[in-house]
Amino acid sequence: MCKKKVIKLAAVLVLFVSVTLSIWICKNNNAHYECTEYAMNTVIHISASGKNAQRAAEEVTEEIRKIDSRMSAHSKKSEIYQLNLRASKEPLKVSDEVFSLIKKSVYISEKTNGAFDITVKPLADVWNITSENPSLPSDEQISDALSKIGFRNIILDEKNKTVFFAREGMSLDLGAITKGYAADRAAEIFKKHNIKSALVDLGGNIYAVGKKTDGSKWKIGIQAPFKKRGEYFKLYPAEDTSIVTSGAYERYFEINGKIYHHILDPKTGYPAQSGIQSATVVCKNSVLADALSTAVYVLGKEESKSLTDIFDGIHIIILTDSGEIIEY
Ligand code: AMP
Ligand code: MG
Repeated sequence: MCKKKVIKLAAVLVLFVSVTLSIWICKNNNAHYECTEYAMNTVIHISASGKNAQRAAEEVTEEIRKIDSRMSAHSKKSEIYQLNLRASKEPLKVSDEVFSLIKKSVYISEKTNGAFDITVKPLADVWNITSENPSLPSDEQISDALSKIGFRNIILDEKNKTVFFAREGMSLDLGAITKGYAADRAAEIFKKHNIKSALVDLGGNIYAVGKKTDGSKWKIGIQAPFKKRGEYFKLYPAEDTSIVTSGAYERYFEINGKIYHHILDPKTGYPAQSGIQSATVVCKNSVLADALSTAVYVLGKEESKSLTDIFDGIHIIILTDSGEIIEY
């Protein structure tokens, strides 16, 4: 073969190899995408597989950030902030999104006998669990806060989409369902992009979309309370479902060896003490799983049992103070 022909052949070969390689890299980039973000006061992991995985995951991240500010009680631009400022004086019109979340919350409050209650904010404020120098609130502060809470004082007007607080000083805290709502939206976005395999983990509030790429179910670890992140007491096989855990270990302070945590019992005004270390709820709707995990933590093992009769398709996993695992 002459020298010219050899050079030509080599050039064609190099072109072929580089085109094949770039197609493979593109495909590979499309095939799997993972990212870690910080939002909603927690570390968020997103992983997705399939065509457009990256685009879908980026859209999910953006939506999570938007939900964080839309549902925040601290951001002056949020509807929740405006409600807390003005809804004790007059009915306020809100978006369909906020209206339906509040309506759903009230429904879950009714069904959990008030264990889950988004009007808990005045109480959360006096406990101020996450402050730099937390201290115990006085009995007066607690009874004053208790006089301002109660989901039955949320007056909803379905036709005009307005919210009114029947008691002066009431305010809402959607902290117990915001991550669940974000997880539901994430699952919707992945489905819209036809992603068959994805996992969203919002600090223990998980949505498992489809199965793993090898066809097996996702294995979701349930955090062992007060242990290092990622140390699990149980693995749960999951497919197209949400898994949400509530526990004292997430946010708390300690005084004289006693732990005061962020899940409050709206009946007593104190951090819930129901004899359990963590409450996990598995169900397709993550808002419901999130709300119910908080409720189960407040209610304890006996009272939570009946929730499986009230809500279809939920599974409850309780880790008791004595280390027993109970499932309904
Ligand atoms: P979670 O971690 O989902 O159980 O939600 C706990 C957060 O929801 C707390 O940090 C408070 O902001 C708020 N919260 C506390 N107690 C309750 C309750 N009983 N019902 C509804 N929200 C609550
Ligand atoms: Mg919750």
